[in-house]
Amino acid sequence: DKKKVNENYFGSYSSFGIHREMLSDKVRTDAYKQAILENPSCLKGAVVMDVGCGTGVLSLFAAQAGASRVIAVEASEKMAAVATQIAKDNGLWRSRPESEGSEQSTGVMEVVQGMVEEVGKSLQIQPHSVDVLLSEWMGYCLLYESMLSSVLFARDRWLKPGGAILPDRATMFVAGFGRGGTSMPFWENVYGFNMSCVGKELVQDAARFPIVDIVAENDLVTNAVLLQTFDLATMKPDEVDFTARAELEPKLGDPESNSTESNSTTWCYGVVLWFDTGFTSRFCKEKPVVLSTSPYTPKTHWSQTIFTFWEPIAIAAPGNLSTKKTAAIGTDTCPAGRIHLRVSIARAAEHRSIDISLETTA
Ligand code: SAH
Repeated sequence: DKKKVNENYFGSYSSFGIHREMLSDKVRTDAYKQAILENPSCLKGAVVMDVGCGTGVLSLFAAQAGASRVIAVEASEKMAAVATQIAKDNGLWRSRPESEGSEQSTGVMEVVQGMVEEVGKSLQIQPHSVDVLLSEWMGYCLLYESMLSSVLFARDRWLKPGGAILPDRATMFVAGFGRGGTSMPFWENVYGFNMSCVGKELVQDAARFPIVDIVAENDLVTNAVLLQTFDLATMKPDEVDFTARAELEPKLGDPESNSTESNSTTWCYGVVLWFDTGFTSRFCKEKPVVLSTSPYTPKTHWSQTIFTFWEPIAIAAPGNLSTKKTAAIGTDTCPAGRIHLRVSIARAAEHRSIDISLETTA
């Protein structure tokens, strides 16, 4: 049931390991740091809400950036207590307006324990009076864990009309990968022995589930295609679930498909999904920032998400489209030289997981 799912979910955020992993992800944390600290027209003097503060790192940046009040909301009891202690230890804590006692309060950051959907009055702030909504809500494949809905809830309840949301854009991309993106090359030559039967079995296993792992840029055999863009300032809560189509074409300038042999065929073994989030110039006027989790940029703890086909699909280089292809592996040739992809992602009812369906047609 939903309560159990939430207990497990917030329980997982009570272990410090996951927070260390996020904080050690310099690509991630530096992107937020830069967006928060280098956009004074957005942050200076602002009332900020941090949805899911964890250790409180984003709130601490906001306090450093000169926010006038930072409300850090965290569902995990343990992490809310930890964030409070950290704010105190760094001289950035502020006692809650209702609280009595003599503890010295020198800063601007308050911590409120609870789900942002449920904290309500205990935030001690009027609805629609937050200037900046801050959150690091992205999961694997962007939407795993479905925390985006909580951010949109906070937006609709607490953000001022025209208020800023950081980041304000999320974009999903898809590209096809070749044999190098599977475990086949490894198992084909192990100290000179052919162990490719293992590789074949692993590729079949991989077709059952999406896998979170790094894909090297060189292993991509198609160009990257935009799948879906979310505008966090304007999207409706039900737009978190979507269906999108993409056409994958052989990578331009791919040495494999540019070969002078007229019958050269590139095999696509599956597709990889990733996302970028943007702190765009809409709110970050001085210094727009992009946080990318692509195979073209330094890796992050999100890696990419890999979806392996049951059978590889042949794609031809432009100019080779009329060439008759012989299927070396698999039989699923694609005469048009491109793959039509249909991807649906929806929150699974009562769970924090997502359902992903993927369809290819030639
Ligand atoms: N902002 C921190 C932590 C990000 S992880 C950082 O950048 O390092 C997301 C955090 O959000 C977790 O600690 C999780 O417990 C919390 N969280 C997720 N959904 C929430 C909700 N609906 N209300 C409050 N906190 C939530």
